[in-house]
Amino acid sequence: IVKLTLPSPEEFHKRKVALISELLLSKGYEVHGIIRRSSSFNTSRLHHLYADQHERKTKLKLHHGDLSDSTNLVYIIAQVQPSEVYNLGAQSHVKVSFEMAEYTGDVDGLGTLRLLDAIRTCGLEKHVRFYQASTSELYGKVVETPQSETTPFYPRSPYGVAKLYSYWITVNYREAYGMYACNGILFNHESPRRGRTFVTRKITRAVAEISLGKQNCLYLGNLDAKRDWGHARDYVEGMWMMLQQPHPEDFVLATGETHPVREFVEKSFAVIGTSIQWRGNGVEEEGIDTKSGKVLVKVDTRYFRPAEVELLLGNPSKAERILGWKRKVDFESLVKEMVEADLTAAASLVED
Ligand code: GDP
Repeated sequence: IVKLTLPSPEEFHKRKVALISELLLSKGYEVHGIIRRSSSFNTSRLHHLYADQHERKTKLKLHHGDLSDSTNLVYIIAQVQPSEVYNLGAQSHVKVSFEMAEYTGDVDGLGTLRLLDAIRTCGLEKHVRFYQASTSELYGKVVETPQSETTPFYPRSPYGVAKLYSYWITVNYREAYGMYACNGILFNHESPRRGRTFVTRKITRAVAEISLGKQNCLYLGNLDAKRDWGHARDYVEGMWMMLQQPHPEDFVLATGETHPVREFVEKSFAVIGTSIQWRGNGVEEEGIDTKSGKVLVKVDTRYFRPAEVELLLGNPSKAERILGWKRKVDFESLVKEMVEADLTAAASLVED
């Protein structure tokens, strides 16, 4: 055990030193992030915070690290002595998890164990509040609808299975060592910063590119999959709220609405004034521009998954009741914000 001289857990929590998040910077936290080393530049989504740092001295510090490297995690935890740890690190793409199953298991499953054990190794298990990014992918082939904290899990991908391990190791460390550790079971949360290979961002970018004549057609997989899509900004607030409770508990964050992928497509094109009509079935299905008759959307089987999650619909009533949390951004506003951000970026040639 690394011996640190520590104040009481209550005093320690008041220091407001967190591992990760922009919301926390605005709440006056000193924020530390862990980034993986890459041969290419990989901090574009943090750029605006960096820029701020020189002008306004935001309290953000980045550390090189990796959830596969225990020694490094212990070093960072000992150095930072965070009062709150948000484990948002993961290989988060479901389709990629079928191709990189072992890596996904290592980082998304065992990575959580390494981080929890790093906290224990530093003797901080009674001081740190730990948030685990659990996911609606745990429900997978859903056994009831809507899904709540009591719905049994049935993951459908190596990603979901790895996250199942993390869910339970978080519960186990809470019960075994009395750690303040919570699972936030978050349904899909999107924003203009969403990675481009996720369906929402892929659609909104394509709509922007098509409207500027830079792309002809958008190729998608399963158009009938339904998701409970909310705005990431609302969800980070909920994550923070979970760690401010007197006792650690697990919560679902969701909008309580579900929409098919094809509706996300229709609403995105509607933002640029294009209405889509669907023609054909299955892999032959096409989305046509009602006015010009041009084919704007096609199906490509390469985006199908070996096992699919057909429907997700969350029930956020526990979070609403206990945390007082409520999502603010509705589906149409989310789509509009994402399309508009991509239109601005595409017009100014800004990437990501
Ligand atoms: P996920 O819910 O974490 O898997 O988030 P995604 O945004 O990757 O996928 C949401 C749903 O959209 C899944 O059911 C996918 O099968 C479906 N989908 C349909 N076409 C595509 C596509 O081209 N890319 C992705 N990523 N998903 C697609």
